Amino acid sequence: MTSPLLLPLEAPTPAHICPLNQACSYLEQAAQELNLDSGVLTILSYPRKVVTVSIPVKLDSGEVQVLAGHRVQHCDILGPYKGGTRYHPAVTLQEVSALAMLMTWKCALLGIPYGGAKGGIALNPSHYSVGELERITRRYTSELIKDIGPSVDIPAPDMGTSSREMAWIMDTYSMNVGHAVPGIVTGKPISIGGSRGREMATGRGVMIIVREALAQQGKSLAGARVVIQGFGNVGSAAALLLQEAGAKILAVSTGSGGVYAKEGLDIPALKTYATANHKQLAGFPGSAAITNAELLTLSCDVLIPAALENQITEENVHKIQASIIAEAANGPVSLNADKELEARGVTVLPDILANAGGVVVSYLEWVQGISYVFWDEERVNQEMEGLMVQAYHQVVQQSQARQVPLRLAAYTLGVGRVAQALTDRGLYP
Ligand code: GLU
Repeated sequence: MTSPLLLPLEAPTPAHICPLNQACSYLEQAAQELNLDSGVLTILSYPRKVVTVSIPVKLDSGEVQVLAGHRVQHCDILGPYKGGTRYHPAVTLQEVSALAMLMTWKCALLGIPYGGAKGGIALNPSHYSVGELERITRRYTSELIKDIGPSVDIPAPDMGTSSREMAWIMDTYSMNVGHAVPGIVTGKPISIGGSRGREMATGRGVMIIVREALAQQGKSLAGARVVIQGFGNVGSAAALLLQEAGAKILAVSTGSGGVYAKEGLDIPALKTYATANHKQLAGFPGSAAITNAELLTLSCDVLIPAALENQITEENVHKIQASIIAEAANGPVSLNADKELEARGVTVLPDILANAGGVVVSYLEWVQGISYVFWDEERVNQEMEGLMVQAYHQVVQQSQARQVPLRLAAYTLGVGRVAQALTDRGLYP
């Protein structure tokens, strides 16, 4: 029998859609643009620590299953490692490594004092009971106990996890060390020191960045035609906030397909419908069914991929009609598709900027926790908006100054700050 620890190594993703290959390629482009020292580039190309653990779990049926759990710590030059924990069947070590690297640039770009990390377990959460998920999460945390910590590595929610899993991680860590450590995770429930506004934060950040990009083109959210792939935590929050700001949400989807309405969907009603129908959107009154492939190619002003990597690729990029693409997901546009979109003059708002609202509010949660002073939601949203708008304008300025697309501009800022810190700190020993 094959060990689950080895599974991620068995099926390498083809190079042109490999998320790690893509992340390294963007890093190399930034290094070239910045004229980075080759030693610095080499150091930044590798994660500092890669941990893969077995997670044996007794299922409710009595059967024992062993899952593989990863935590990749890319870089802690600017501060503790920071990044989410993903539960999804497509999780691989390669993917987690790429996402850890993106976290490093994202935190540096937003000017928050963290490094980058990511964790993940390859599982479909809907195939497990709540009790099983709790045992999996607690065992995963125990296995990583020496590698995480409030000033070492701070996990957060990601795809397939939420405040519930963060509470289990916090409790397991605290029981192991013998005292309560709320700072071990962010995105935790408010009852144990979570921040107001954290749940909607990534979606809110997406709305802010789209609003700024439209404003730059002399347009506004009012009446903007928006299409969103993904109706999970990020996609649904972005949809709600964009609609509140006057945008028309023409279509949204989940993994099993989507719904379309020419005059715009009623998002609060759709959320209620999805909750009552086991996340199925099909059959929502006043809408037509649409596949994920059709959704991406709809005529619209703003397309927001808020699901998995590699959704816009060489195969479908020529059919994309949006003039702005906001990457709410990490890496939703493949390398070659990105080149084509650039050539066509499509504005791509890169992931490390567009979806940074989550980690920004994680940082604000950390700040509140350290100071024992908790803010109301208005204050949290205001602080987050300030950091997001500032980063957006820095990226635009950098893009104009260097005559490069927004993604490369964002990368040069993020990578440049980490490289500067690395140079200032020097190489140990
Ligand atoms: N998982 C989110 C991200 O990819 C949030 C990470 C965090 O808050 O640490 O940005």
